[in-house]
Amino acid sequence: MHDNRRVIEQRLTRVLDQRLRPAVHTGAVPLAVAVWDAPGEPVPVGVGLAAPYRPVAVGHRWGPPWSTSWFRVTGQVPREWAGRRVEALVDLGFDKTGAGFSSEGLVHRADGTVVKGLHPRNAWIPVADPAAGGEQVAFHIEAAANPTFDHFGEFHHAPTPLGRRPPWLTGGGPPGEPLYRLLRADLTVLDTDLWDLVQDLDVLDQLMRSLPLDSPRRWQLLRAADRALDTLDLQNPAAGARAAREAVRPALAAPATAGAHRISAIGHAHIDTAWLWPLREAERKVARTLANVTQLMDEHPGFRFAMSQAQQLAWMKENRPGIYARVREKAAAGQFLPVGSLWVEPDTNITGGESLVRQLVHGKRFYQDEFGVETAEMWLPDTFGYNAALPQLMKLAGIRWFLTQKISWNTTNRFPHHTFWWEGIDGTRIFSHFPPADTYNSELSGAELAHAVSTFQDKGTADRSLVPFGYGDGGGGPTREMLARADRLADLEGSPKVAIEHPAAFFTRAHREYPDAPVWLGELYLEFHRGTLTSQLKTKQGNRRNEHLLREAELWCATATVHAGRAYPYDALDRLWKTVLLHQFHDILPGSSTAWVHHEAEQAHTAVTAELRTLTDAARHALAGPGDATVVFNAAPHTRGGIPALGAALRPHQAHPPVDPAPSGRGFVLDNGLIRIEIDERGLITSARDLRAHREALPPGTAANLLQLHQDFPNEYDAWDLDAFYRNTRTDLLEADSVTATGAGVRVVRTFGDSRVEQLLTLPAHSRRLDIDTDIEWREREKILKAAFPLDLRAEHSTAEIPFGHVKRPTHTNTSWDAAKFEICAHRFLHLEEPGWGAALLNDSTYGHDITRAVRPDGGTTTTARLSLLRAARYPDPDADQGHHRLHYALLLGAGIADAVREGYRTNLPERAVPGSRPVTPLVALDTPSVVVEALKLADDRSGDVVVRLYEAHGARTRARLTTGFPLASAHPADLLERPLADPAALDTTHLPHRSVDLTLRPFQILTLRLRPAR
Ligand SMILES: [Zn+2]
Repeated sequence: MHDNRRVIEQRLTRVLDQRLRPAVHTGAVPLAVAVWDAPGEPVPVGVGLAAPYRPVAVGHRWGPPWSTSWFRVTGQVPREWAGRRVEALVDLGFDKTGAGFSSEGLVHRADGTVVKGLHPRNAWIPVADPAAGGEQVAFHIEAAANPTFDHFGEFHHAPTPLGRRPPWLTGGGPPGEPLYRLLRADLTVLDTDLWDLVQDLDVLDQLMRSLPLDSPRRWQLLRAADRALDTLDLQNPAAGARAAREAVRPALAAPATAGAHRISAIGHAHIDTAWLWPLREAERKVARTLANVTQLMDEHPGFRFAMSQAQQLAWMKENRPGIYARVREKAAAGQFLPVGSLWVEPDTNITGGESLVRQLVHGKRFYQDEFGVETAEMWLPDTFGYNAALPQLMKLAGIRWFLTQKISWNTTNRFPHHTFWWEGIDGTRIFSHFPPADTYNSELSGAELAHAVSTFQDKGTADRSLVPFGYGDGGGGPTREMLARADRLADLEGSPKVAIEHPAAFFTRAHREYPDAPVWLGELYLEFHRGTLTSQLKTKQGNRRNEHLLREAELWCATATVHAGRAYPYDALDRLWKTVLLHQFHDILPGSSTAWVHHEAEQAHTAVTAELRTLTDAARHALAGPGDATVVFNAAPHTRGGIPALGAALRPHQAHPPVDPAPSGRGFVLDNGLIRIEIDERGLITSARDLRAHREALPPGTAANLLQLHQDFPNEYDAWDLDAFYRNTRTDLLEADSVTATGAGVRVVRTFGDSRVEQLLTLPAHSRRLDIDTDIEWREREKILKAAFPLDLRAEHSTAEIPFGHVKRPTHTNTSWDAAKFEICAHRFLHLEEPGWGAALLNDSTYGHDITRAVRPDGGTTTTARLSLLRAARYPDPDADQGHHRLHYALLLGAGIADAVREGYRTNLPERAVPGSRPVTPLVALDTPSVVVEALKLADDRSGDVVVRLYEAHGARTRARLTTGFPLASAHPADLLERPLADPAALDTTHLPHRSVDLTLRPFQILTLRLRPAR
């Protein structure tokens, strides 16, 4: 037979695109249009409905960037349309390339109730089905002029001002030029037969093209399409739609093969809580998406939709009660499914341990309180890497399953499994799945499903995968066309079997079928987006600062309640926590959002800081009592300078004055009897001796605290990526403007380009740490600034702090997996050692680090650790990180892991001195430094119980005795939500009458205890 395949495929494409799809809506009757332009930020719905509208015609230009216009469209259904399905079609001037990245609309009825959302791929409004004829139609469309400044697949990376908040929105200057033109506002009839034919042919076409050319099935589908097209009169395709459907019916009725891959499809809309839009627009994206989803559920009872960020629903509860009521109605019907267990989908590289706990607590509690649902999965499809503490945190929050697809974005190595057990640093294993469709925004296209089947790495032992479908990132969610595909793909030869079902149903079956899935141990490192460990320093600093201030606030407020009877500020702490959690979202904390977003994040962090300081100061003053002696508070988990951990002591003078610099040659020496630091005339550290160990830390001829500038212009995503070739070029900042001795240490000033850095190097007495306070006026573009510390050390691994523990990573590049980790995340410390001696770098706000190694001619090994201090990306914020910064880091010599853990906390939890007269007994004390208190607070149930969360921090099995500073009635292990947990192994309460309990912890075990004071 002659091969006419291409001809028929082209025929099908052209007829679908040019004749059938345009004909599904017929009989356009123009709607009357009026508009009101909101004068600034979005207004409440009531204001928009009652606004003074003015008539305009189709073609009307509207919408300066980020503005809102309210369109009122009115008309009457023609009598002759009785019995038909009538829909309005409104085209706000959509850029057709993407849902959620262009203008968007939310349709309201005149009474303020919501109809559905509008976006470029979903522009219809239901009017009547069937129509009676003669109905009056009136809709109000809240239209958002969100600018299209980027799309997936065609990033232009050009710096753009569109991500700044326009001044006129808050009253400054005139609005910009309109971006959009109203293209259509009509009443139409939907020809349902023709619409169904389009869906038939669409599924047939996509399945056909996904099959191999030598597959008989591909040719059966081709012939069926050909026959169907023959039946159609293209001048009146609707008339032949039923006959054409009959022609493809046998092909679409052929069942799937017995061994077909099974796909659990779940409606989803991954809405970025902020990104290329501010928080307020994300809230409206949620409203539009949920309006779409609930409308779709009305018409499709089998449709299920999973939503993953409790914060987004909390916004609806607060500000869009009508939509929220619809969501609750659909949740009760089993169609709307809260998933994910988290407050937002946070970054999990940078977010601190206790923050991750609160993400789980507030996420899960919201779903319990509002929907009566105990979520069982962690749903993080888009986060940029996953720390190795998460499995234990999940388990302690009652979570059994983990989902992401992001690791498929690795640029070097392909992850070997799609379904597997993920094992964390403590040994906890969580059943995990990476959807092999490699997207969280599936359209259920033939290509995506075929990709899922061919990519799935566990074929033969497992036969199912999950596909989240619906427009995401900028929102929109599933469409009726996607549901039509799912419907036709339920049991179709050549296709995987698609069933819309709850993710829990998927995980339950997947687990049952594959209980001995392979195991992946340790972090899920994303080989991509490494620059997010450094971008937008001020946002990261706000988070780090407030995480530690929240610890202090809870600690001292709880202590003041137990010791002094003060009221505990439950509501304020709840609110402040949620603000910090919100800004841990995976495009905010990583620094990948617009200037508008980061500016607001900095403001929010500043306000949280101010309020926490007020709360904490009041608690400390209450504890210290009257008087003018100095009471010094130590919120860190280890005793320091005689001040107990988590307590306070009277102290008349400063405990650790820094040593005076002594001139030496053309530089200075700092020597406190423990370590000796030589600083040369360039302000560089040329010697760092551990005097007790008789050991020089620096390799011969090197300099430490060397600032290094690299060109940093990645290939794709500016704020996200640090590409390996950045290391190929480097400028060492060797010249100093001045190097001077001050009372506090040695001050070094350097200028480079338009930038200036001033550093103060300080050596406290009785300490093996050299502190480096850094002030930078940063005016570079597309550069990264590193601080290098070469060490004469043969270390196979570096050890980096992560939430609730640490991870070891190879310093070498033996394998492609090791080599790809050329930028790594560390929290408060990064440690390097060879047996018997080690050193650590400590920081107060740095996350990005890198390690390189070299063997010298003298046989020694130089291991160089560097901190990534600042970047200067230009997309999406063209001025990212420009301006003034202060940050702190330190070099700790002769340090083991225990020292690094202790000094990491101290660096971030300074002593606080207040006037008073009373020392403060800690509420809890531990007799072992390896057991670290991460949080101390009062129980969220307001019972007055003291909740203490602690963990084993050194990676070794440990016994410890916990003693309370109050009479103890009982002590019980609890889960992260402070619910009783049966874990008798961890706790021996035989010493309860003596205010103490004995603990046994395995390496890195986290234990939450509820301690009930005797009353
Ligand atoms: Zn995202």
